[in-house]
Amino acid sequence: MPQNAQKLDRQVAVTIDDLPAGMADRLPAADITAMTTKLLGTLRDQKVPVVGFVNEKKLYKLGEVDERIKALQMWLDYGFELGNHTFSHASLNQVGLKAWEDDVIQGESVIRLLMAPHKMKLRYFRHPYLDTGRDLLTRRQAEEFLVERGYRIAPITLDGWDWAFAGIYEDARKRNDTALEQQIVKDYLAYHDAVFAYSEQLSVKVAGYEPKQILLLHASNLEADHIGELLDVLRKRGYRFITLQDALSDAVYSLPDTYVGEEGTGWLDHWAISQGKIPQGAPVFPQWVIERSKQLNLSTGQVSAETQ
Ligand SMILES: [Zn+2]
Repeated sequence: MPQNAQKLDRQVAVTIDDLPAGMADRLPAADITAMTTKLLGTLRDQKVPVVGFVNEKKLYKLGEVDERIKALQMWLDYGFELGNHTFSHASLNQVGLKAWEDDVIQGESVIRLLMAPHKMKLRYFRHPYLDTGRDLLTRRQAEEFLVERGYRIAPITLDGWDWAFAGIYEDARKRNDTALEQQIVKDYLAYHDAVFAYSEQLSVKVAGYEPKQILLLHASNLEADHIGELLDVLRKRGYRFITLQDALSDAVYSLPDTYVGEEGTGWLDHWAISQGKIPQGAPVFPQWVIERSKQLNLSTGQVSAETQ
C-alpha cells in the first residue's frame, strides 16, 4: 500500500484545441456561446488550468463575428490562456512550409488583440493534426520559425481521440437520443481511461518515469457536458491538474525527438520511435464509433474530421 500511495502523484496539464469549437461551421454562434459557458464553468469551478488553442478562421461567419469573438474572449475573462493553432487548421504535412508559416501568422491577429488588455503574451503553439513535418528539414525549419515568433510548441502525451466521440455525440444530442448519448459517454470515458493507463506504461518505457503529462481535448458539446466525469477519471488515477507552463518544465520535453511521418502522433510515440522502440499494445478505438461516424458522413480520419 505505501508503494501504491507513492505512485499516486501524477500531474497533467489540460489543453483544448480547435477553439471556438471543433464543429464551429455547423454550430450557430449562440450554441458556441452556450457550449463555451458550460465548459469553462466546470473548468473554473474545479480550478483546472487550461490553454485553449484557436483557429481564427472559425470566427469569420457573416453576422456572427462579434459573438464568436466574444466566445473566445470568455476564455480569457474566466482566467484561461489562449494559444495559436493556425488560422485555418492547416497541416504542415499537406501544405508547403511557406503556406503553413503564413497560416500561423494569420492565426495571431484576434488572439493578440484579445490578450493585450489581459497583459498576456501569445506564447504557445499547437500543430494541427499534430503534423510536425514529413521530413526532418521541414520539421526543424518550422520549429525555428515558431521560436523566432516567440512560440513554445505545446506537445501532447495523452490523447483519447475525443473529437471522434464528439462528432457522433453532437448528432445524438440534436436528436435527443439520450440512450445513445449515454453509450457514447460511457465508451469515451472507458477509452480515455485505457489510453491513460497505456500512456503511463509507455512513459516508463521511453523516459524511465511518468512525466508531467499533457492532455489533448477539443472544444465540443461532449466536453462541455462531460469533462467533469473525465476529470474524475484522471483524479481516480492519481492525477492533479497543473499549468502547461509547469508541465513543460519537465525534462521529458527535451528528450531527443527525430520523429517524422505522414501521420501526426503524440510525443510519447515521437520519443519511442526516436529511440528505435515500436510502441505496442495501444488500446483499440471502439469500432462502432467509427462505423457510426461513417453513417453520419463524419470523417473518421483525424485529418478531415478535425477540419469541421
Ligand atoms: Zn486541431
